[in-house]
Amino acid sequence: MMLAQAGAEIGVDVICAGHPRDCAGQVAPLVSVDLNDASAVAAFAEQVDLVTIESENIAAAVLHGLNLYPNANAVGIAQDRLLEKRFFQQCGIGVAPYAPVDSADDLDAAMAETGVPAILKTRRMGYDGKGQARLYRPEDAAAAWNEVGGVACILEGMVRFDAEVSLLAARNRGGETVFYPLIENTHRAGILRRSVAPSRPGLQSLAEGYVRDVLERLEYVGVLAVEFFVIGETLLANEMAPRVHNSGHWTIEGAATSQFANHLRAVLGRELGSTASRSTVMLNCIGEMPPVAETALFPKVARHDYGKSPRAGRKVGHLTLDASETVAIQYWQRRLEEMQHVKFDGGSS
Ligand code: AMP
Repeated sequence: MMLAQAGAEIGVDVICAGHPRDCAGQVAPLVSVDLNDASAVAAFAEQVDLVTIESENIAAAVLHGLNLYPNANAVGIAQDRLLEKRFFQQCGIGVAPYAPVDSADDLDAAMAETGVPAILKTRRMGYDGKGQARLYRPEDAAAAWNEVGGVACILEGMVRFDAEVSLLAARNRGGETVFYPLIENTHRAGILRRSVAPSRPGLQSLAEGYVRDVLERLEYVGVLAVEFFVIGETLLANEMAPRVHNSGHWTIEGAATSQFANHLRAVLGRELGSTASRSTVMLNCIGEMPPVAETALFPKVARHDYGKSPRAGRKVGHLTLDASETVAIQYWQRRLEEMQHVKFDGGSS
């Protein structure tokens, strides 16, 4: 939806393919296409000049052969946690201790590798804390395996991090690359609740070096988000998303060029826009939106309602606030904590 809105602003015709109820259909033509059906996707792709994606959970087999940016190989790595971890290591980027788990029998050896506590994560199709189970003691292994549905996984040692950050970059077809400032992210129950940018300026150049290498090795075109754990002055890569990213939604108001406009510019081979940014806070609305009349009390708060029906744990919108709006930030943080039954500060994710 936000990509299509950016397209309208920069004069690009965006046509969306997906489920008829996808929220992009509110702002752009939406063709009903089963994204698991390679021939249906190929038929759609023939109708347009080029294709991009806003979810990495489309089988790489469906994507191969399309005029697609980012390329299917990059998406294939990013959609598989095991390939992704190995790739980060090949780039010389640190990761949490991990081991592949293909059956319940692999769990003991995996725990010996990672230690406990640990998190069992499905290799594919996980998002917002789904497809994950935590093991606090070795005895939790069998229950965790059942909880994730007994599919191919990795076991990851739980890292005690100081913060979680993400770096968003855009690289165009000519190789021009721009970076947004590091964003500090607060997750609860595996779901992103709050993003604050800029953050940790002392780690910006380290993160940019890592992500530049990732982009070049993948011959990546488009916006890429890499999430890191911060431990002191070091960064461990957690995962990457080959698409525009929730932690960058604040760029619509907070940056000279939004991640959505830069993604489209990148895939079209246009010059990229400036990422100059103001200090901004983004708060996710999870489960349900706060009432319109209540957000209207704060005219400087940008309210984004994705038009999705309310459901527990579902991201249905976000609020963007300039960091100078301290009273509004305090109000909305408390209000959303109350609505989501979580605390954003203190404790762990
Ligand atoms: P993921 O889907 O891998 O991004 O995991 C969702 C959230 O769970 C992360 O943003 C972290 O807050 C937490 N998490 C994931 N992996 C680890 C880990 N190895 N150690 C500690 N926390 C983790």
